[in-house]
Amino acid sequence: MDRRDRLIQEHRHDPYQARGKPREPSACPTCHAVFHDGRWQWSRPADDAHDLVCPACQRTAEGMPAGILVLAGDFHLAHRVEILGLIRSVEERETKQHPLKRIMQVSESGDELQVTTCEASLARSIGDAIHHAYKGDLDYHYPDDGGDVLRVHWER
Ligand SMILES: [Zn+2]
Repeated sequence: MDRRDRLIQEHRHDPYQARGKPREPSACPTCHAVFHDGRWQWSRPADDAHDLVCPACQRTAEGMPAGILVLAGDFHLAHRVEILGLIRSVEERETKQHPLKRIMQVSESGDELQVTTCEASLARSIGDAIHHAYKGDLDYHYPDDGGDVLRVHWER
């Protein structure tokens, strides 16, 4: 395991996941993900499912992303449509398996594109996919102040 992986492991604790153990079965009234067998999944909710807002919808409602990916440099501006397509295809692939791996928001300011995610690992997966497709420089880190938001930075 390299240093980067270890850093990410150490910060695994997610306050949104730790707000008490959900009763089963529960279903999120917002996105309809179901908590069953100890994890959130896409399935038909049982008739007796409890209402429970999932961590991804809680984060979205509170505007508290778990991961922030920033694309910098000129390359993404010239390949905007292609890169936005790649971002959405990674999200679609991940969300299908894991309901909480969702993009919260994609925004552009100046020459930076920012993608916020409801799970840190999705920001990382998107960064990895962009790096794999277009090379450039990729870096992940948690802020030095001990915050729990994963920052992924890509530049080309
Ligand atoms: Zn939800």
